[in-house]
Amino acid sequence: MKKDYVINVVEKLKQAYPDAKCSLNFETPFEMMIAVMLSAQCTDERVNLTTPALFAKYNTPVSIANAPLKELESLIHPCGFYKNKAKNMKLAAQKILTDFGGEVPQTMEELMTIPGVGRKSANVVMLEAFNHPQGIAVDTHVKRISNRIGLSNKSEPEKIEQDLLKQIPSKYYQDVNHVFIWHGRKTCTARNPKCSECPVCDYCKAYQK
Ligand code: SF4
Repeated sequence: MKKDYVINVVEKLKQAYPDAKCSLNFETPFEMMIAVMLSAQCTDERVNLTTPALFAKYNTPVSIANAPLKELESLIHPCGFYKNKAKNMKLAAQKILTDFGGEVPQTMEELMTIPGVGRKSANVVMLEAFNHPQGIAVDTHVKRISNRIGLSNKSEPEKIEQDLLKQIPSKYYQDVNHVFIWHGRKTCTARNPKCSECPVCDYCKAYQK
């Protein structure tokens, strides 16, 4: 697909969702990383309801590395997969202390060595915590919209991201990360998308069929 075409899609979505931004609450890069880990298979709203109590007690690598596992599990229980997430939080905190001097690293490669942090999470941390987007975090919304509009016919997030990066100039990475997710939540929903009020229906392959 031509770059101009894709840029038009992004611009239309920016106009439609001028307030689109990350909806996870955090104050430090470490809190951001933990919030993203908790958001796997969970809504941002539920993460935001969970993190205040967690971060009030445990919001640094040292505190989480030393926290009782059972207490972490209890605090994050509402986010689901709490045993695995609590275990990864402790492993991640230990890794940051051991390998990165207690600071969340600022490269994709280093972030992806941290337990519980995959490419999608690393992309979110680079954008939201460091304001230095390196790519596009492909979640369920970005995947669905990319497939429907025709920006990618792949199903694996990494391959979809590569297709997007070939078509979207880097200056739009931040916008795409935000507006695609908002479009997926508000209009291009998984079931019953609101195509009749969609700002990019003229560009959408699924709609043109
Ligand atoms: S036209 Fe429908 S399917 Fe296509 S992007 Fe818009 S809401 Fe989604």
